[in-house]
Amino acid sequence: MPTFRLYDTQSRSVKPVETQEPGHLKFYCCGPTVYSYAHIGNFRTFIASDLVVRTATALGWRVTYVSNITDVGHMTQDDVADAGGEDKMEKALKSKEGDAFANIWDLARHYADAFEDDWNRLNLQQPTVRPRATEHMREQIVAIQGLIEEGHAYETPTGVYFRVSSFDEYGKLSGNRDQDSLMRAVRAVVQDDNKEHPADFALWKKDDKHLMQWFSPWGWGFPGWHIECSAMSRTYLGDTLDLHAGGEDLVFPHHECEIAQSECLTHSPFCGHWMHVRFLQVDGEKMAKSAGNFYTVRDLLEKGHDPMALRLSLMSTPYGKPANFTMQSLKDAMSTIERFREVEKRVRAAGISESADGEPDTETQRVYDEMLEAMCDDLNTSVAIAKAIEGARLFLRDSDLTTSQAQSAQWFLRKTDALLGVVGGTATESLVEEPVVEGRPISALIQERAEAKASRDFAQADAIRQMVDSAGIELRDGPNGTEWRRKVT
Ligand code: AMP
Ligand code: ZN
Repeated sequence: MPTFRLYDTQSRSVKPVETQEPGHLKFYCCGPTVYSYAHIGNFRTFIASDLVVRTATALGWRVTYVSNITDVGHMTQDDVADAGGEDKMEKALKSKEGDAFANIWDLARHYADAFEDDWNRLNLQQPTVRPRATEHMREQIVAIQGLIEEGHAYETPTGVYFRVSSFDEYGKLSGNRDQDSLMRAVRAVVQDDNKEHPADFALWKKDDKHLMQWFSPWGWGFPGWHIECSAMSRTYLGDTLDLHAGGEDLVFPHHECEIAQSECLTHSPFCGHWMHVRFLQVDGEKMAKSAGNFYTVRDLLEKGHDPMALRLSLMSTPYGKPANFTMQSLKDAMSTIERFREVEKRVRAAGISESADGEPDTETQRVYDEMLEAMCDDLNTSVAIAKAIEGARLFLRDSDLTTSQAQSAQWFLRKTDALLGVVGGTATESLVEEPVVEGRPISALIQERAEAKASRDFAQADAIRQMVDSAGIELRDGPNGTEWRRKVT
């Protein structure tokens, strides 16, 4: 088996992923803040984490994978140490979209559910635990108390703050170690005159007007953003994690603050390996609603794009390199997906059932081994995808597969799907709602057309096809009957 190596932000080098327990990876990935629908950039990060889980599993490891939901709104300016600005979720509730919700809890639940739907449609593995910040308030309060007791935190009239000067190693992840870089990083915004140092960050904000509030030893209020990940990772993974992931914006302050809180609390190293995903751009620019290049996952799926093509396009550039999403990249991904599906069709046509395991021939085994090796090489997805295409090509040379070729192809598809998650797609397809044309579900229209054809009423069959076509749905006749698909706009 190849060695699984990933770039580690802290040591600034590619190094083997080491597990404390042999063959058991303890992995935490920071989840989304649920104040609106997730965009495709968020999913570039979650897909990269998903590929870690899939690669580790392919190596035979067990993975305890924790990915949280931040359903306590953190602040629009949470990158400054005081956590100033407005609560993101309260702001969303006051917006036009917010009218649809009875209250802030309702809004959080709606966007968290929508996030899980997107997660499933893009065929991401279920985390072992998906903890919610609101359901771990006790753990957060206990952690803050522990930090106060040991002199790492102090109370002021507005909240509780972490005393950065009490932790010598503050800055070891981001490099913001000296006073100058630290002051620049926190932008020296001081909103609380009682803070000992501008870089001290909020663990608890006192606020009895806040829409989401809890009672604590410091009165009514809500936790700072960083403490939830320290508290929840400890609950499910213990004091020391093997690997922690997130987007590149989280290096500072979020992950730096997690390290400080956790190490001061547990007196143990917090995490052995840090993985950060470079941001996705769209058409070469930062994604922004104002720039008109902002896509949510559901926008694209509702337009008829295939979830597997979207997944493939979001993972085609290795996670550590700048990635650019374009409509062309989505189209290119679709043609790759179609190759996998064509191989699948030929396997079925050769009489191999969906549940059969299959056996690889030497060449197929070699291509897969190279694919796994590429994934172990810091998740080199561009090489791994090229290998998946090379493998598919082996089975597209002749139109009919022999039984042994079909068995090999079956094995290859299963292994590639387990590793890259882009072949199957059938599990997620059922989540795409069946379209209704002129009041009738597409499956009923397909059936009626088949009957019309069988009774040689071709005019009626054509009329149905045209009606469906003008509703933006294409019908394709194949060996397994007629399939529908939304025409891509
Ligand atoms: P948020 O909901 O803002 O906390 O973001 C959820 C995750 O998505 C975090 O790990 C972010 O770092 C990551 N993220 C946000 N924007 C992008 C982007 N454009 N590309 C890649 N990852 C992103
Ligand atoms: Zn986090």
